[in-house]
Parts: sequence; C-alpha cells; structure tokens
Amino acid sequence: MDRKRILVTGGAGFIGSHLCERLLNDGHEVICLDNYFTGTKSNILNLMQNHRFETVRHDVINPYIVEVDEIYNLACPASPIHYQYNPIKTVKTSVMGAINMLGLAKRLNIKILQASTSEVYGDPSVRPQNEEYWGNVNPVGIRSCYDEGKRCAETLFMDYHRQNKVKIKIIRIFNTYGPNMNLNDGRVVSNFIVQALRGENITIYGAGTQTRSFQYVDDLIEGMIKVMATGDTFTGPVNLGNPHEFSMLELAEKIISLTNSKSQLVFMPLPCDDPKQRKPDISLAKEKIGWSPKVSLEEGLVKTIAYFKTII
Ligand code: NAD
Ligand code: UDP
Repeated sequence: MDRKRILVTGGAGFIGSHLCERLLNDGHEVICLDNYFTGTKSNILNLMQNHRFETVRHDVINPYIVEVDEIYNLACPASPIHYQYNPIKTVKTSVMGAINMLGLAKRLNIKILQASTSEVYGDPSVRPQNEEYWGNVNPVGIRSCYDEGKRCAETLFMDYHRQNKVKIKIIRIFNTYGPNMNLNDGRVVSNFIVQALRGENITIYGAGTQTRSFQYVDDLIEGMIKVMATGDTFTGPVNLGNPHEFSMLELAEKIISLTNSKSQLVFMPLPCDDPKQRKPDISLAKEKIGWSPKVSLEEGLVKTIAYFKTII
C-alpha cells in the first residue's frame, strides 16, 4: 500500500488527535508535533502503543526539520479564551508556524494542508459564506490575533504556492465539536454539555440569537483527508462545515433535552466582536471532493455527551 510518513502539528489537540488516529487507521506513519498548550497526552494515549506513531514536544514558532511525505498544519489554539490568553503568541503561532512548516514543505517538495477557519470571514455580512467572500474582520480587536493570524497564514500559503510552487491546500473549518474536546475548552458545545451534565447554569452570551453551524469531527476528518488527496492544481481555500445553522438558544435547548438536565439558562454579556451569524456554503467541497457532512447535530451531540460523561 501507499504508506506515507505524515507530520501533524497540533496533533494532541481536539481535531489533531482524531486526524492522527484516522491516518494511523489508514496505515500511515504519523509524527504528532505539539507544545501541549491546549492539547493533552490523554487525547493521544490510545495511539501511543502503535509503533507507527511518534510524538515530538516542539513549538511551531521554531523551525523543525524532519523527513516526511505530507504535513497537516493544525497547531494553534482555537478557543477564544485560549487564543486570547497570550494574543501575541497566537499571532506568532499562526504566522511563524506557517512560515516554518511551509519552508519544510518547500524543501521536501511535499503537500501541506493548512487548518484555516471560518473566522477569516469575521462578522460576515453575507449568508451563507462562500470562499469568494473576503470577510468583515476587525484588524484591531480582541479576536484579531486569531482571525488576522489565520488570514496572514492563508496569504503565506498562497504566496509560497505562487512563488515557490509549494503544493498547498487550505481548508476553512467551521465550528467543529466532538470527543476529545477539553473540559475547559471554553467553546460553546463543550461549555453547554459540561454545564448541563453538572446541573450548572447554562451560560448564554448575549441574547443567544447569534448563529453557528456545528460540524461533527468525523465529518471534518473525512473532508480533510479528501482535500489532501486532491491533485496539485486544487489549492482551496475550501469551506468544510455543516450548513445547518442553529442559534445558541436552540443549541442550549437541544443539549438540555438530550442530557435530561435541570440546568437553567443565564444570560451573560456578549464578548466583543462576537460574529452574529455563520453558515458555510459547501458547494465547492461538493464539487471538488464530493463531500458533505453526514452526522446530524443530534447524533453528534449524543456521542459527545457520552464522551463528556466518561471524563466528568
Ligand atoms: P485545540 O486547541 O484542541 O488544538 C490545537 C493544538 O495545537 C493543541 O494540541 C495545542 O497544544 C497545539 N498548539 C498550540 N500552539 C502551538 C504551538 N505554538 N506549537 C505547537 N503546538 C501548538 O484546537 P482544535 O479545535 O483541535 O483546532 C485545531 C486547528 O483547527 C487549529 O488550527 C484551529 O485554528 C483550527 N480550527 C478549529 C475549529 C474548531 O471548531 N475546532 C474551527 C476552525 C479552525
Ligand atoms: N457562547 C455562549 N456561551 C458559552 C460559550 C460561547 O453563548 O458558554 C457563544 C459565543 O458567544 C458565540 C458562540 O457561542 O456566539 C460560539 O462560540 P465559540 O467560542 O464556540 O466559537 P466562535 O465564537 O469562535 O465561533
């Protein structure tokens, strides 16, 4: 078979750990690089026994040299509370991490995939968001370290491609959830589930009418593998997300009902620059990789709730 050695930066994180597992299941060798800022060894503990799996404690802001056949670049905190903890480091991780990994891909003449984000659209004024939309991003706000860091990383990917013919892929990931999210991750799905299971108040920021489209992690991983497998002429950016859109109030109600919880809703201030809406147009992913998400919100929440029950 076509066994590859694949580098996954941010491999001990939520999405990275699922990706490492999938790549191992597909028969590849995986090098999981992480500085464990938000990732944990427990996420990859079940992979440690596999002789095709290696871990490296390393920070992507520093160069890293290794012989591999493909790179998935995921290293970057994704939850607002974590990326705002040290915003300068967040920018460095996105930008210097991209430069270091693109330099490696250039030297090795290999494919590299960037985990970009729907945050490049900022607080969008169009709905749904397609890849042609340039976004509505505040360059000087508290979310900018993440949004602008990821936008600059996309710029670097495109320039390495145009200038040095690096074989790049850019995916724009919309809100993704599932097992291996950290208890203290701070994002809405994990917050609501943990609060519901503990019988604590469910914290709705603002009026709860803002919308997001939630994608189960297995659907995303399938999309990532398919994008990486495309030919050299397809670079993206391409949206990977679930087009079903829900308000935070609807999400809270679903989670309360699925957990049979007695939790009450409490309303808290809306964080600065919190996008009002988010819904991906996935026509390009359908056309280029024949992909669309398969897991409904209810199905995915049931699996995620089961996971959190085991760790609470
Ligand atoms: P996560 O925080 O669980 O994982 C990020 C991983 O990167 C962690 O293991 C962390 O320790 C590691 N990391 C952070 N800074 C690093 C550095 N400087 N050097 C090495 N490792 C570093 O987040 P996630 O949800 O798994 O997100 C993974 C990627 O996908 C991120 O790039 C994120 O921006 C992107 N993304 C995620 C979502 C989502 O909804 N989960 C949406 C859009 C984009
Ligand atoms: N949110 C909320 N309660 C929480 C956490 C988040 O109401 O406990 C809201 C948040 O304000 C945002 C939405 O849920 O409008 C999604 O937030 P998340 O941090 O998951 O992701 P992002 O804003 O980056 O899409």
